[in-house]
Amino acid sequence: MKTIDDFNFEGKKALIRVDFNVPLDSNFNVTDTSRIDAAKPTILKVLEDGGSAILMSHLGRPDGKANPDMSLSHICETVSEIIGVQVKFAENCVGTAAEEAVANLQDGEVLLLENLRFHAEEEKGDEKFAEALSKLGDIYVNDAFGTAHRAHASTTIVAKFFPENKCFGYLLAKEIKAIDKVMQTGEKPVTAILGGAKVSSKITIIENILDKVDNLIIGGGMTYTFVKAKGGKVGDSICEDDKMELALDILKQAEAKNVKVYIPVDVLAADDFNNAANTQFVDVDKIPDGWQGLDAGPKTLEIFKQVILASKTILWNGPVGVFEMENFAKGTIAIGNYIDEATQAGAFSLVGGGDSVAAVKQFGFEDKVSYVSTGGGAMLESLEGRTLPGIAAILD
Ligand code: AMP
Repeated sequence: MKTIDDFNFEGKKALIRVDFNVPLDSNFNVTDTSRIDAAKPTILKVLEDGGSAILMSHLGRPDGKANPDMSLSHICETVSEIIGVQVKFAENCVGTAAEEAVANLQDGEVLLLENLRFHAEEEKGDEKFAEALSKLGDIYVNDAFGTAHRAHASTTIVAKFFPENKCFGYLLAKEIKAIDKVMQTGEKPVTAILGGAKVSSKITIIENILDKVDNLIIGGGMTYTFVKAKGGKVGDSICEDDKMELALDILKQAEAKNVKVYIPVDVLAADDFNNAANTQFVDVDKIPDGWQGLDAGPKTLEIFKQVILASKTILWNGPVGVFEMENFAKGTIAIGNYIDEATQAGAFSLVGGGDSVAAVKQFGFEDKVSYVSTGGGAMLESLEGRTLPGIAAILD
């Protein structure tokens, strides 16, 4: 695996795919700089070597047309402040504007190109467009995990024009290592905690993960499909009847593979999908009609706690309750605390995919787990066992 550390950028122009798809307020101020912060080490390595950095990214969904509201010029100052170098801006990511800006770029300087998605060719993975981008740099660096699952021109196709001179930036390399640590090389016992709303959206992950883990904790809305499939009464809880057979099959597969599956035994049920609803703790298989399970109960959390604390490698994807409502967030917070405790005792913990990162940030667990993935969709596809095109293009 070639990383940025395998290259000396002295006198070289690094063409870096970053993920600067950051949120902006109505005055075009960046409201969360995490993605820019995350790309900083890669950019600084190039500059410290004595090279120059050409940054390319998308912002929003302009659908192939130039749209001033989604211009990356809005973030130029913020990037300058974070990197500590005045960043130059090219008003187009290909063509004369880009080529002239690159020709004038000196070692130690940084150039930000205009939004890649102002060109429909970007998302189509157009080869000519990728070739035009490739002309701008000597070495291609991919540091955008958030788009690594897309075979776009700047994330995948461009790599073929750098047969020898392509590598992963620090952020992407960290993501790959973290996933490997869970899926391939993790110290046992390995535990996956899968929550979220639906079995249907997690099924490929569950099937892939059964070959990698010792324990599988299932929580959140998925619970009720399993419980009903086993003959329990789930009241008005979220349940996918058409996935019940699949749920039973998963349990069978897990047994055959010696994976221990933990499903909630009690839940906090509510008489409405509402933070102010009446609540009661009930056995998971005896939920009265008119009531729905919205969070894990105390007996369940005690069982989950013992499993998590005994784990050496932990993967967490998906909340175990409706964490957006304060009264149903306690289970998810408790899981975060157990993972924190296990991590402090030496376990490796990875959180990622979909909504999990939002939950982790909301409750301040970001610094308490070993690694929080920066890519929602890319992380989910990695957990499903797919090779991401952006990663494959560098490994080729
Ligand atoms: P996902 O994106 O699949 O990880 O699902 C996350 C969503 O699942 C969150 O918005 C949670 O509110 C929701 N969720 C978790 N537990 C439940 C539950 N028991 N009933 C309904 N939704 C739930």
